[in-house]
Parts: sequence; structure tokens; C-alpha cells
Amino acid sequence: MKKTFPLSPAAAEALTREHPTPFHLYDEAAIRENARRLNAAFSGCEGFREYFAVKALPNPWIMRILREEGFGADCSSLTELLLAGKVGYRGEDIMFTSNDTPAREFAEARRLGAIINLDDISHIDALERAAGLPEVVCCRYNPGPLKAGNAIIGKPEEAKYGFTREQLFEGFRRLRDKGVARFGLHAMVASNELDPAYFIETGRLLFKLVVDLSTELDIRFEFVNLGGGIGIPYRPGESAVSYEAIAGGVKEAYDGIIRANGLHPLRICMECGRVITGPYGWLVTRVLHLKQTYRTYVGTDASMANLMRPGMYGAYHHISVLGKDGSGGRAVYDVTGSLCENNDKFAIARELPAVAVGDLLAIHDTGAHGHAMGFNYNGMLRSAELLLRADGSVTSIRRAETVDDYFATLDFTGLEAP
Ligand SMILES: *Cc1c(COP(=O)(O)O)cnc(C)c1O
Repeated sequence: MKKTFPLSPAAAEALTREHPTPFHLYDEAAIRENARRLNAAFSGCEGFREYFAVKALPNPWIMRILREEGFGADCSSLTELLLAGKVGYRGEDIMFTSNDTPAREFAEARRLGAIINLDDISHIDALERAAGLPEVVCCRYNPGPLKAGNAIIGKPEEAKYGFTREQLFEGFRRLRDKGVARFGLHAMVASNELDPAYFIETGRLLFKLVVDLSTELDIRFEFVNLGGGIGIPYRPGESAVSYEAIAGGVKEAYDGIIRANGLHPLRICMECGRVITGPYGWLVTRVLHLKQTYRTYVGTDASMANLMRPGMYGAYHHISVLGKDGSGGRAVYDVTGSLCENNDKFAIARELPAVAVGDLLAIHDTGAHGHAMGFNYNGMLRSAELLLRADGSVTSIRRAETVDDYFATLDFTGLEAP
């Protein structure tokens, strides 16, 4: 997958005169085009809906764009629920997939009329106590060590999420007996997965379970939610996952299991975040220093506070030196931020076109789990987010934090210097 940046080096330089670095830049046209491709690929699955995982890029402008493209919102906290409500998501446009859920969050999800996806059998009572049981309830399945004929589903038994198979039978029975009338089944046990077969396998697993649960409990399922987790090609050598391959395989499994057992119609939902916005965001940062010791360091004006994935997971993010293609020489660098943490590095021993102080770098694929994971350690302030519109203009969709923002939660009363 060729790594591109949507602005010319001169346009990027001009942009930084109005919006100082660092900032994340998102490409609206590319996000819309991608959303349409996903919907088109699943058009053969009646009632298909993607609920954008808000945690990946919790910005109202982006959420509004995705709502316009027909997506729902997948929320997992009170703030995300409130955010979804503010940008016009209503009722069952919202999927609430949380875990370890506070009563207040169940209550807010109920107030909004969201589809509540329970993480644990004990949450049936917790939800009932907090807000009463809604008409529709979804439960999250964790297949655990039950490999169910596939080696692809990692190690779900080590994940904190979801019900066991036995608990699902017990849980849906209780929900049925308490008068819940509409049911959904969910699973998500992988992240950043590039193999379409994985999602088809998850579909098959859930379809079979829907057959077993429906037969045993005499209930009718309305939807299955295949979760998120579609990966993106962070490395130039990787390829994007084919939506058509996933949709085709899921539809085939659907026909073979759901239709064959007379359980059509059953809507298929997903709650992807990364694949929806990830490739269409860039962290733009300027080179402040070049340092030559045992290695050569490129010191930028961004830090892990703006993009945590490399430091946290050792994740690869491609880096372009804007306006340089390597014909003027190449060298090997560690690309760093200024945190007092040695893992504050965007790249380690990375070969790049020869870098000079003042160069602009574009760190790729920061459109999901980028700004969203930011934090204030070391007094770092989170950057602005900018939106590149289809007409080439740029809108600020989140200003950069200021020192006043950082101080806003502190109380200096009585601490003034004498
Ligand atoms: C994180 C998460 C997602 C989104 O995952 P992506 O890898 O961004 O697609 C969806 N659903 C749940 C429950 C999650 O925790």
C-alpha cells in the first residue's frame, strides 16, 4: 500500500503558518469514500449497519460525517454516549458496548434508547437495577478455549470481555423470561486483523450459535454484531483488507447457516473504528533538533502524548519527510518526542530521506487511536485536529490544548508564591 499525504509540501508549509505544528490532519473526502465502499460491499447483506467505534476518533465533526454516510455509533463510556447524542445519533443508532459498566452509564444508554450490549451475565441484574430492562438486549460472546474449528481467533480465554457459551444460554433465558423481546449477539476477539477469513469465521461462529440459542430457547435474534478489529496496512508492504472478501464470505456463511435454518432475516452489524478513519489521518510535526550520539535522533515538536501507539505497542507508523524523496541521500534515525520517557519514539532505527532541522514530517495512519489516546503526562498538551474538506479548505475541528486547560482542574488557592 503506497503511503501518500494529501497536501503538497508547499501547501503543508502554508497550513502550518495558520495552524502551528503538531496537529492531526484528517481527509474528509477519503473517509467518506471509504465509508461508501464499506456500505457498498455489504449491500448484499440486508439491513447491514456499521456502528463507528467512537473511541477511535471521538470528534463530533467526524462522527457527523459518518452519520451522514449511514453509520451508527458504537460507544463504550458515558462521555462517548453524550458525544453521540450531541451530534444527532438517536436511539438504536447507538450501540453501547461497554464492560465493567457503572450504573449511571446504563441509565444514560437507556435514556438515549441505545442498543445495550451486555458484557457479563451479572450485568442483566445490574442493568435492570440501574434503568430497567429495555425491549432489545445484545450479549457479548467470548468463545474462550472453544476453538470451534478455527485457529485464527487468538486467545479469547485471556480476554476480560464477554459471556461464556453456557452463560449465554442462561443469560438469554433470563432475559426472555423477564420479557425482553428482541435479541442480538456480539463477539469481538481480535484487533488490527488483516485476514478477511477471520471475520468470516467469527460470522460462522455467531450464526451457528444463533441457531443453537434460537432452537433451545425459542427466541428470535434480530442481529449479530461481528465487532470491529479490521486491520489497516500500517506498513507499506501490507495490503488493505478487502471488504468484498469479508462481505462475500459472511453472506455465504449466512445463507448456509441462517437461511438454511429458516432464521432469515438477521441483520449483520459491525463496529469498526480503525479501518474507518485510521488511514485517513496524519500527525504533522516539525523537526526541532538533530542529535548525534550513539545513534542519530530526529527530535520533533510532537510526542507520545499525540500518538501513543509506537511507544505503547511498538507499533509501526510510516513516516514521510515532506518534500524529500530520498534522492538527496538517506540515513537511519530514531524519531523522538520530548517526553522524559525513552519509549517516546515514533520510529526506531528507521531509514528516511536525510532529515534537516525545520523539515515537516507526516506520520501516517493516525486517524484512529491517535489523538484519542493522547494524555498529559509531563505536562504535555494535546494537539489540534484539522479537517481537510473536499474543496481543499481546512477546518479546525479541535483546537490545541493550552496551559490554561491543563491548569483548569487544579486549585491554587492559598498556594500563591509569597
Ligand atoms: C476498540 C473496539 C472496537 C473498535 O476496534 P477497531 O480495532 O478500531 O476496529 C469495536 N468494538 C469494541 C467493543 C471495542 O472495544
